[in-house]
Amino acid sequence: TEELLRKSDKLSVAGQLAAGLAHEIRNPLTSLRGFLQLLQHDLRDKRHYFDIMLSELDRINFIVSEFLVIAKPEAIVYKKSDLVMILQSVIALLDTQAVLCNVELILEFQSDIPEITCSEMHLKQLFINLIKNAMEAIPKDGQIKLLVSLHGEDQIRVRTQDNGCGIPEERLKQLGEPFYTTKEKGTGLGLMMCFKIVEAHKGTMYIQSQVGYGTTIDVFLPRYTEEPN
Ligand code: ADP
Ligand code: MG
Repeated sequence: TEELLRKSDKLSVAGQLAAGLAHEIRNPLTSLRGFLQLLQHDLRDKRHYFDIMLSELDRINFIVSEFLVIAKPEAIVYKKSDLVMILQSVIALLDTQAVLCNVELILEFQSDIPEITCSEMHLKQLFINLIKNAMEAIPKDGQIKLLVSLHGEDQIRVRTQDNGCGIPEERLKQLGEPFYTTKEKGTGLGLMMCFKIVEAHKGTMYIQSQVGYGTTIDVFLPRYTEEPN
């Protein structure tokens, strides 16, 4: 156990360093972005270059924010929340995009879903990531279902089900590895972040998939209890 302890100590030091580094990278990024936007006005004929520079900056910023969650899960603040409301707001956020992709986003839930202890911001990020992946897996028309149900006494299951391209069995074990992506513009950090968020909430996440039929991702989260864990 001593060796294990030392290892997790090292991990959290590395995590803190990474989080510090991420903040240090973000500040100059923000200032670069501002100056680029100013210059954009003076050099209108070079517009194309600016578009590229701005989108590259945004990409770095996006990667850094995904990385921050991974590096510093202990910075998460928890409170008693309504999971169904969180999912409703995630769906409201992604609905326009879904319509544009010809994807139907459906939320179904049991009437008696208990409250959970969570960070709303992080749970939103979790489900935004899962739904975005599902949308990206659907080549044209499709359906994404979110099914919320009570499991046993104290677990709530959120099942995200898509009828997209699916994942070959031999690739399933790679999901959640950093930088594993099959997309040209992917970061391969999304699922890793999802696993981290679920783990930080004392939950579990399982992925099932069948090529040509679709993917089902189950997130189990513990219901709210009075005693502090
Ligand atoms: P990214 O989306 O940037 O590629 P993720 O970590 O979110 O990174 O996902 C990693 C890979 O897992 C994706 O590139 C894709 O191949 C696969 N994947 C994730 N979710 C799905 C899904 N719902 N359907 C099919 N493939 C998926
Ligand atoms: Mg993704």
